[in-house]
Amino acid sequence: MKELEKQKIPCLDREIVACCVCGAEPPDVPEFVIQTFPIVRCPRCGVRRVSPRLTPGALRQYYDAGYWKSPDSVMRGYFDYAGDEANIRLTFKRRLQRIQRHTKSAGRWLDVGCAYGFLLLEAQNAGWEVGGVEWSEHAATHAPEAVRARIKVGSLLQADWPENHWDVVSLWDYLEHSQNPKADLEKAAKLLKPGGWLSVIIPDPGSWLARWMGARWEEYKKPQEHLYFWRFRNSCGMIV
Ligand SMILES: [Zn+2]
Repeated sequence: MKELEKQKIPCLDREIVACCVCGAEPPDVPEFVIQTFPIVRCPRCGVRRVSPRLTPGALRQYYDAGYWKSPDSVMRGYFDYAGDEANIRLTFKRRLQRIQRHTKSAGRWLDVGCAYGFLLLEAQNAGWEVGGVEWSEHAATHAPEAVRARIKVGSLLQADWPENHWDVVSLWDYLEHSQNPKADLEKAAKLLKPGGWLSVIIPDPGSWLARWMGARWEEYKKPQEHLYFWRFRNSCGMIV
């Protein structure tokens, strides 16, 4: 705990929950432990996850202003997300252009885990009607005014958009942070129009780098925020 305090990472409440994929309880023995957080492998479906993990209330605190401007972004959040706006928007613009090759025309775009809404800005500039959902109240309320009103604060599961509404749903660097990625994917599928595009970017624990690094893999270094590690093989969208 002292190590976490030194790095200004909040030490918050934890909970044990069943596996979101198959419902199995976590095993007693972890595969390894990162910063006092056990990483376990589900005995039934094999998904790797953090257990015990931070509670929803603790996660609300965790994604505060200090997450987006962090003194040690390897251990927590971003060095300066808002200050890096130009670079982030350039990356998002390139991804958006790749997806637009498939969608042909602009329609409705939902970004899940939209942070400060930078993708929403790019999509809006390209003619899309946009919406976002963001767990971090700090990020959502500090989004640029042009898109702030388009962002719902909270979880995707709480969001009340109608079904069959969106042409594109993007989950970029989101599912590993999700408290229930399976339910989020099911909700995203309902929100998408038939024939819509789901775009997912997720760290792959089956990649050669992850397998070579083992417990030292960078994505395991943030067990407060990265809750699930799973391979996403059958995406109907694109993985950039
Ligand atoms: Zn499982």
